[in-house]
Amino acid sequence: MSPLCLDNLLPDYIKRFEAYIPSKPDPELVKLYGCRQLYRLNNNENPLGPPEAAREAIAEFPAPRAAVYPSGDAYYLRQKLAEKFNMEPDQFLVGNGANEVISFVIKAFCESGDNIITADKTFAVYEWVAEFSGFVASLVPLKNYEFDDQGMLDRIDDRTKILFICNPNNPTGTYWNTGRLRRFMDEINGSKIVVLDEAYFEFVEAEDYPNGLSLTREYPNLVIFRTFSKMYGLAGLRIGYLAGDLSVVDAIRRTCIVYSVNSLAQVAAVAALGADDHIVRTRSMVRQGKEFLKRELSRLGLTFVCHEGNFIMIKLPMSDTLAYRKLMTQGVMVRAMTSFRYPNHIRVTVSEMEAMQAFIDALEKILP
Ligand SMILES: *Cc1c(COP(=O)(O)O)cnc(C)c1O
Repeated sequence: MSPLCLDNLLPDYIKRFEAYIPSKPDPELVKLYGCRQLYRLNNNENPLGPPEAAREAIAEFPAPRAAVYPSGDAYYLRQKLAEKFNMEPDQFLVGNGANEVISFVIKAFCESGDNIITADKTFAVYEWVAEFSGFVASLVPLKNYEFDDQGMLDRIDDRTKILFICNPNNPTGTYWNTGRLRRFMDEINGSKIVVLDEAYFEFVEAEDYPNGLSLTREYPNLVIFRTFSKMYGLAGLRIGYLAGDLSVVDAIRRTCIVYSVNSLAQVAAVAALGADDHIVRTRSMVRQGKEFLKRELSRLGLTFVCHEGNFIMIKLPMSDTLAYRKLMTQGVMVRAMTSFRYPNHIRVTVSEMEAMQAFIDALEKILP
């Protein structure tokens, strides 16, 4: 066997980086924790699944097409997006989930010595991609569970290229309204790229929530992320996109991997886009679930953070990783929040009443 000199080969930032450990498949978890079924409340998935039109598109997908490469630039989906949002098809870039477009943006703008700015308690993939690509992720603490605009502005230096804002924020559900976002963009004044991650856009009911896409006309340095994983129930097919000013999207396209978005995901996404009734049904389920959870959690004397989005964060009088394991034995899977820097907190996806009741029953059993 020949020797292997990994130590010399790996950059320090890779040696330091700790890989994310995905959870096991449901059948394995059911065996491991000895539960009968499993309510998945850990990933903010839509329990109603994809819209009817997307289900049909998936069912009718001709198997022989699996042999043929997909459209390399999601041609029809970008046309449909352009039509729906009154923009140009070339203002959209589709990726293998919004997760993939995060790395497109970072690769396009950052070089050695550059940094990105985001919050300490938010979706962690911005930070991760920056770090395992060798860039510094500068983390500004949330303030009252919200992204701290002034704190982020104060953190900017000559080597800052991108600021990532999750709007509404996963896991706190807080958001910047239109006025606040405008003030922030006016301060930046085109000098940096600002990414607005709108993964939960379709869930937001607040009147003063900004429409990121239309603001890209005024602020060409603004880049918007959206996904089909949450509201549209297509998480398993992996498809999301970014949108922005033509010149910015043209630049980002250079780092984009052609053929990373499969054909089935593309046809399902095209079909899903028109399904406004699905959004109405899902929102009403989320509203009902949130009301129920707030009432029950208050009864149990627990504090929680619940704003926009299909999730709620709950503070527990015990370790979140212990709570996770105990809830698993009851057949309820939640997200332990230590990894989001919220020890003793869990995040729960707002779902149908049966699952919400099962969660509350399980919680009552495991609370000390
Ligand atoms: C789920 C989520 C995403 C990732 O979506 P994919 O399209 O499934 O990769 C991006 N941002 C936030 C804030 C999310 O919660």
